[in-house]
Amino acid sequence: MMVTTYYPDFYEQFSCKAGACRHSCCQGWEIDIDERTAKRYQELSGPLEEEIRQNIIWQDGSWQFRLQADDRCPFLRADGLCQLIRKADESILCDICANHPRFFVTVGNYELAGVGLSCEKSCELLLADLSNLTFHVEGSDQFLDLSTLLQQLGIELPQEELLYQDGMTAEDAAFVLACMNKTAPIDADWPKQLEKLAAAVQTLEPLTREESCLFTRIYQYILYRALEHARTYGLGTVLSYAQLNADFISLLYQLTGQLDESVRRWSEQVEYSVENVRCLMELV
Ligand code: SF4
Repeated sequence: MMVTTYYPDFYEQFSCKAGACRHSCCQGWEIDIDERTAKRYQELSGPLEEEIRQNIIWQDGSWQFRLQADDRCPFLRADGLCQLIRKADESILCDICANHPRFFVTVGNYELAGVGLSCEKSCELLLADLSNLTFHVEGSDQFLDLSTLLQQLGIELPQEELLYQDGMTAEDAAFVLACMNKTAPIDADWPKQLEKLAAAVQTLEPLTREESCLFTRIYQYILYRALEHARTYGLGTVLSYAQLNADFISLLYQLTGQLDESVRRWSEQVEYSVENVRCLMELV
């Protein structure tokens, strides 16, 4: 059966910032090497392949790059560029390096594609436009709004459910933070950030008109990204999950004044952790 793939409107504009990226995805994460590429790395001869073999390890049931003391990929150069690409080309990369931050998830007979928001370029693209998100279907020039896309997936929702609901109270904020406190921290800074947020929730400012538009884009993207979970948790839970996470980003933004970075930081903690997504789905 032919699968229809949807892409968010900014997907095609994605290109890695490489050496200009301040939060390289080549640092701070385990990098699993898919079986096909690991086999290729073991079989090919040549100095680069030999260097790769010396820098990969078998751990937790898969081959991985052996991270350095500061959790950097051994092939990440000081200038932020990838030594493998510089010495060979992209065909030498394993799947995760070649595809990140792109994602593809299946919902019924449809595939939803996008770029994950732990990548600062993805955040910049999401927040570069004030209009509601639109999506295009592979092989077509047509752009659909979220409501139409959902209808094609067999989901009918009133328009107000597709907009971010501003107006968080201190009580709402306390609930959001209590939920986030139950997620597994991605690093030592996360609990400290939550403490600072807890101290700041008594002084919530309403969003400006422009900010409201941006938060609706963020909310719609989180909702789109989480649709794969509707079957397990129900659509109502997925909507609440999107609102809770957008609320959290709003709190972080009010504390830091940096919207791109607030979205990126949320994504590291939640979007890229299967356990934390599950934890929040069960709490909302
Ligand atoms: S986080 Fe994004 S922009 Fe930065 S190095 Fe990775 S893919 Fe490139």
